[in-house]
Amino acid sequence: MYACFMDSSENYRAVRERVAAAAQRAGREVTLVAVSKTQPAAAVRRLAALGQRAFGENYVQEGLAKQRELADPGLEWHLIGPLQSNKAREVAAHFDWLQSLDRIKLVDPLDRARPAGVAPLNVLIQVNVDDEASKSGCAPAQIGALAAAVRAAPRLALRGLMAIPAPAPDLERRKAAFARMRALFEELRRDHAGVDTLSMGMSADFELAIGAGATMVRVGSALFGSRI
Ligand SMILES: *Cc1c(COP(=O)(O)O)cnc(C)c1O
Repeated sequence: MYACFMDSSENYRAVRERVAAAAQRAGREVTLVAVSKTQPAAAVRRLAALGQRAFGENYVQEGLAKQRELADPGLEWHLIGPLQSNKAREVAAHFDWLQSLDRIKLVDPLDRARPAGVAPLNVLIQVNVDDEASKSGCAPAQIGALAAAVRAAPRLALRGLMAIPAPAPDLERRKAAFARMRALFEELRRDHAGVDTLSMGMSADFELAIGAGATMVRVGSALFGSRI
């Protein structure tokens, strides 16, 4: 298959079909988040016209600019990149999901800035599942405290966990990271009502992630082509 000759609608249909097939094998519903970082608003509009609803952005300002340009209330925006404290207000005001909560300090500013009259901000706790010093996400041991803080915030809705496992060339290691995330997710789900989302899997490994328990995958380059 020559991906470079396919237009975006063919890429989109192909990814949708692969996600649906893997979800069916797993016996679970899976949400596809289209990662539109570095893509222009027009690319988001093309996918939205094909029925895609959820879009993921890494940078707050870039995401806000696209939201303004598209002005489409039917779209659902996920912040998937690291969140700096000074951007918490804007995220709470303009995004539907925050997938990268990694410290308690952010909980109160997010809660206070979430406008009344819109649904609570959906929150995933990002976990550093490989225990790498270089990576964002909280340590597995911190999930409990973070989850309790989110549950205590009336304008935030704790929905689950997110991870970006290190790109392990060897399949077994990647599977092991996904399996650890699933165990942490099941534990969180036992302790908290409303937890239903495990976000893991990207272009290179979303089928593997779905097989390992993902309910949400974040796919960029397989939809839009590789980023430069
Ligand atoms: C860029 C990014 C993705 C998508 O990566 P692809 O390999 O292009 O599918 C998913 N999640 C996060 C957090 C990202 O930064």
